[in-house]
Amino acid sequence: MKVHVDMALCASHGRCVFAAPDVFSFDDEELTYEPSPGADRRAEVEQAVLSCPVRAITLDGDHG
Ligand code: SF4
Repeated sequence: MKVHVDMALCASHGRCVFAAPDVFSFDDEELTYEPSPGADRRAEVEQAVLSCPVRAITLDGDHG
């Protein structure tokens, strides 16, 4: 599974961090994330996608 955040859209609301703390985090107030999380993280990443108010997160593929 591939995760991408459009940093031009991201306004650092942090809702993705709340939804999927294993994948998204803040590093010195800048969002960082794991771009290739394992398939077991899928549910929380989907939650993060839904929770992002600016739809900055895209999730790609079912390949794990
Ligand atoms: S929820 Fe969306 S806008 Fe907020 S930090 Fe995450 S990606 Fe950025």
